[in-house]
Amino acid sequence: MHTNGRRKLGVMGGTFDPIHHGHLVAASEVQYRFDLDEVIFVPTGQPWQKGDRPVSPAEDRYLMTVIATASNPRFSVSRVDVDRGKETYTVDTLRDLAEQHPDADLYFITGADALASILTWQDWSELFELAKFVGVSRPGYELNIDHLADHLRDYPEDTVTMIEIPALAISSSECRRRAGEGRPVWYLVPDGVVQYISKRHLYVPHDSAL
Ligand code: ATP
Ligand code: MG
Repeated sequence: MHTNGRRKLGVMGGTFDPIHHGHLVAASEVQYRFDLDEVIFVPTGQPWQKGDRPVSPAEDRYLMTVIATASNPRFSVSRVDVDRGKETYTVDTLRDLAEQHPDADLYFITGADALASILTWQDWSELFELAKFVGVSRPGYELNIDHLADHLRDYPEDTVTMIEIPALAISSSECRRRAGEGRPVWYLVPDGVVQYISKRHLYVPHDSAL
């Protein structure tokens, strides 16, 4: 409980195909720096595709997220986007979570790359009413919101905060590529996720799966 009597909840949205240590370090660092009571991981609903590739089934992505976060008492996983069952928009995620947690202030956690696209495509004024945004550094992406400065002038100072976190040059794309080529993903993703990928033959080209 915090000075204003409200809980502080982080919201870490992602496709998590698969979840990796870059996601977990980002969530852990923001939890610590903002003294969050909890970080809720929210795997996206099933998009038809992401860019030009098929996305693994939502249940597999959800289960990998549960496996990866289970040991941290401050981490949990929400099914709101998975159960909505269509393309995920951040505003819907935040609306649903705000309704489920009326006693909490929400902090949406996002990497530098994703922040830029969220703020490009969606109505910020509504997003900023629902949550504060925390952008974390990510190797290979510029963390630059200077072009937002003008628009942000009308909002409280902590509407969007950028922070530097320990750099992990890991992406789900690279994990999928490696798994597909039979190269190891050990230590890029949690052990249980390595085993889940192998058990479900995720990312293996279809004809070579058992
Ligand atoms: P893909 O390569 O399929 O796009 P991804 O690694 O970017 O996968 P997402 O599920 O798209 O993972 O990302 C979810 C969130 O985590 C986004 O806000 C993204 O910017 C952030 N993120 C992902 N990897 C890192 C990382 N290594 N460091 C910091 N933030 C990250
Ligand atoms: Mg991504």
